[in-house]
Amino acid sequence: MVKAMRMHKVGGPEVLTWEDVEVPAPKQGEALIRATAVGLNYIDTYHRSGLYPVPMPAIIGSEGAGVVEAVGPGVTEVAVGDRVAYGNGPIGSYAEKRVMPSHRLLKLPASIDDRQAASMMLKGMTAQYLIRRTYRVKAGETVLVHAAAGGVGLIMCQWLKHLGATVIGTAGDKAKAELARKHGADHVILYREEDFAAKVKEITGGKLLPVVFDGVGKDTWEKSLDCLQPRGLMVSYGNASGAVPPINIAVLNTKGSLFLTRPSLNGYVTKRDELVETANDLFDVVAKGAVKIGINQSYALKDAAQAHRDLEARKTTGSTVFTL
Ligand code: NDP
Repeated sequence: MVKAMRMHKVGGPEVLTWEDVEVPAPKQGEALIRATAVGLNYIDTYHRSGLYPVPMPAIIGSEGAGVVEAVGPGVTEVAVGDRVAYGNGPIGSYAEKRVMPSHRLLKLPASIDDRQAASMMLKGMTAQYLIRRTYRVKAGETVLVHAAAGGVGLIMCQWLKHLGATVIGTAGDKAKAELARKHGADHVILYREEDFAAKVKEITGGKLLPVVFDGVGKDTWEKSLDCLQPRGLMVSYGNASGAVPPINIAVLNTKGSLFLTRPSLNGYVTKRDELVETANDLFDVVAKGAVKIGINQSYALKDAAQAHRDLEARKTTGSTVFTL
């Protein structure tokens, strides 16, 4: 038996309870991981609330680091004793130990410690695919990143700066705006007070943007479209303020022959090669100091409910890690 945060029904943070759970022996293609650090992500709140349904009872969590304690038959990617991390499904990282499909595991380079890894695999690989593949950002381009002081946001600001882009960020308050600026945002708009589309128009001298990265969802959807140049790309990749309501696609025409995508990390790491390349790109920018992973909050895993409350109340910045 090990301890895990388990839920038996969807709901508020209180549904997460610290329980004894059985961990099965690893089967074909699986590895048993002893967790050393676990990451918090906004998607954990969607799994908990039921926005993204998961079978019950559930142990949520999609990001973590640890040590391989055992492997099942046919495992080639990792071996017992390896320090590993992961950032995409299946859920189950909120536990002292878990089994994982070995093809989802990445061996950690010595330059990345476990807490860093647990804070960056999902968020950093997301930043990678968004700015390198969903839209390949080029030096000299100006782009918009919503919630720029958040977990994905701070990584994107730094990486975009490293690529030579001009970054416009949005943030919920002045302290977050300052943090985003320190991480590479050239302009930060306080979108709870200011009309961010009008500000983008002003900052760009009316030229607007080739791409908007929007993880906020419902509250920013409409105005994000107004930030785009004709044929610009709207990247709607999350729902921190709630899901974007069903849309009439004619809006893409009336707002300038726009493109729209609703991507997810899983769709960009469908094959082992893609996963390894994505992770290596992330490890590279972190190892050379171009992207620093700020762990701005830390909680014991058994206090995950409080971490969820703080994340949903917009009290956190950057990455949050759970200790065991
Ligand atoms: P963050 O640390 O960015 O936290 C969410 C932030 O969103 C808050 O800090 C807050 O920043 C902002 N926000 C705006 N409106 C609200 C609201 N009504 N309630 C709560 N927060 C709000 O989280 P993550 O870095 O974990 O994730 C960022 C987004 O990226 C999420 O939507 C997540 O689902 C998405 N995501 C998508 C992935 C994909 O592949 N599609 C993968 C990983 C993440 P502020 O106060 O500054 O507005």
